[in-house]
Amino acid sequence: MSKLRPNPTLKDLPVYQPGRPIEEVARELGLPFDSIIKLASNENPFGPSPMALKAMREAVRKVNLYPDGNAYYLKNKLAEKLGVPTDNLILGNGSNEIIEFIGHAFINPECEVVVSEYCFAIYPIITKMFGGKLVVTKAKNYGHDLKAMLDAITEKTTVVFVANPNNPTGTMVSNDELFNFIEKVPEHTLIALDEAYIEFLDNPADTISYVKRGKENLLLMRTFSKIYGLAGLRLGYGIAHKDIVAILEKVRQPFNINLVAQAAGIAALDDVEHIDRTKKNNKEGIKFYEEQLAKLGIEYVPTSANFILVKVGDGQKVFVELQKLGVIVRPMGGYGLPEWVRITIGTPQENKRCIRSLKKVLGLK
Ligand code: PMP
Repeated sequence: MSKLRPNPTLKDLPVYQPGRPIEEVARELGLPFDSIIKLASNENPFGPSPMALKAMREAVRKVNLYPDGNAYYLKNKLAEKLGVPTDNLILGNGSNEIIEFIGHAFINPECEVVVSEYCFAIYPIITKMFGGKLVVTKAKNYGHDLKAMLDAITEKTTVVFVANPNNPTGTMVSNDELFNFIEKVPEHTLIALDEAYIEFLDNPADTISYVKRGKENLLLMRTFSKIYGLAGLRLGYGIAHKDIVAILEKVRQPFNINLVAQAAGIAALDDVEHIDRTKKNNKEGIKFYEEQLAKLGIEYVPTSANFILVKVGDGQKVFVELQKLGVIVRPMGGYGLPEWVRITIGTPQENKRCIRSLKKVLGLK
């Protein structure tokens, strides 16, 4: 046995299980790469923004140089788009890294962190990694019960995590409920409001207005991984009071946003056509899944995001069988939902193929 002494918090720490890459499934099952569709990680089925692709081709020629450690141009572009000064912004290597910054800056063995049942898996992992005590409130209709979350906050609570819409359930709270929550959370608790899927909403809550008015305990987190189609680049950002940003900046590595990602992000923000097309496709895809699933008598959770949670019986088995048909979805056992799988909304062809395959696997006509 090794004599090494890793940090005790790591002893029972679960490892995040990502969606299976196409290459891995192709290799394992001996299927051609192109025959497989991945509906497992809520990626953009239309690929990266074409404008971002063009910018990346230019940028890649300069990768002998370090990136701008402060991402001046990307931050300015975001600031202009969001209507906030750049000192309200922090960039992360994916919004996952922003969640990790929260761990470094706000979570320790003396504190409590409040999350909901069926929350995004990274919140509990980061909480435990930094030795914080995780407090989990019961979900309401698979979504966040904000009243219960408020009640769970104590003097020791340094962070409360809310994803709106939530992953993996696709649920969201009403704008009024959210505003009420933001106003009631005590000032000593950071509201980490994860808005990874906000661009898919028609009427998103204007949460930035709180930052603009100087709210001192609110951090919004967003990403280029979903609607912008840049998951593989790893680019996310936080919007918060400048004092929160200053704290998080202390734990950020200087070159966390690579040079190609900085260029791509700037271009992607302007690619309205790609964003609109993705949003429209998503809306039609949700309608398709909801109609088909209802017709088949399969339970699902109504979704506001770019994926849908579907009750299939034995989620792990259905995941394995679907893979054999070249369809990768996500089993939900790790989320305490062993009877469910999560399916990312794809192109119309992918969605049809997924439903066809699901029917076959479940033995439905
Ligand atoms: N938050 C939520 C709710 C998510 O679903 C995801 C992606 N799975 C992330 C954060 C992280 O996304 P990224 O690190 O790619 O920005």
